[in-house]
Amino acid sequence: MRYGLISDIHANLEALEAVLSELEKAKVDDILCLGDLIGYGPDPDKCVELVRTNTKYTIAGNHDHAILGLIDTRFFNDFAKKSVEWTKVQLSQTSLEFLHTLPLVAKEENFTLVHASPARPEAWNYILSVDDASDNFNYIQGICCFVGHSHVPIILEKNYDETVSVIRKFELELQKDKQYIINIGSVGQPRDLDPRAAYAIFDTSVCEFELKRVRYDMSKTQKKIIERGLPVYLAERLSTGQ
Ligand code: ZN
Repeated sequence: MRYGLISDIHANLEALEAVLSELEKAKVDDILCLGDLIGYGPDPDKCVELVRTNTKYTIAGNHDHAILGLIDTRFFNDFAKKSVEWTKVQLSQTSLEFLHTLPLVAKEENFTLVHASPARPEAWNYILSVDDASDNFNYIQGICCFVGHSHVPIILEKNYDETVSVIRKFELELQKDKQYIINIGSVGQPRDLDPRAAYAIFDTSVCEFELKRVRYDMSKTQKKIIERGLPVYLAERLSTGQ
């Protein structure tokens, strides 16, 4: 099976459309989404609709839970809080119902999917380093766990001797006697200084992972963010990818 993997769309319709078009060209068998469909961006309902109709399934992110009132947003920054309030009234009943159905974790053949961390999915902890990753490997089923949440792609590999290292590659053949935690980056708000939309392809028959990037009509998204009264900073940060 060849899976297309997407995460952290954040209501960026132009980025999502560009990624879906690339995945269609790549002829993947199924698309799986790791959550955060909404928040920050100007097209929440259209993005939820596209994800709902194009993915095999989707798991929940913290912004999806925030909109549903399932988590405390006191610790969100001001930009995130403002966009949560704005987004709440943009979603159709169908979209809200869909968001309510999303699980926190999913297991697929020989890999796991979670938005934040496999150890405690509901705690929304970030995996940004070898230290953050170590304990999380104990909670993975299969060869790999794909995550989102930080918007920064990273590959963490657990070796034979239980040590964990960072692999700085965008293409990797996963070794069957090792384990991996892979952050697939963000479709709609990358934060690794590369403003192009990020997505991934995982081919289970050869255990090959590939992180891909695609340009999209960013100025259109930025214009809509400003026109719709969302914080200007949310438009500006798309240009620099941070
Ligand atoms: Zn996110």
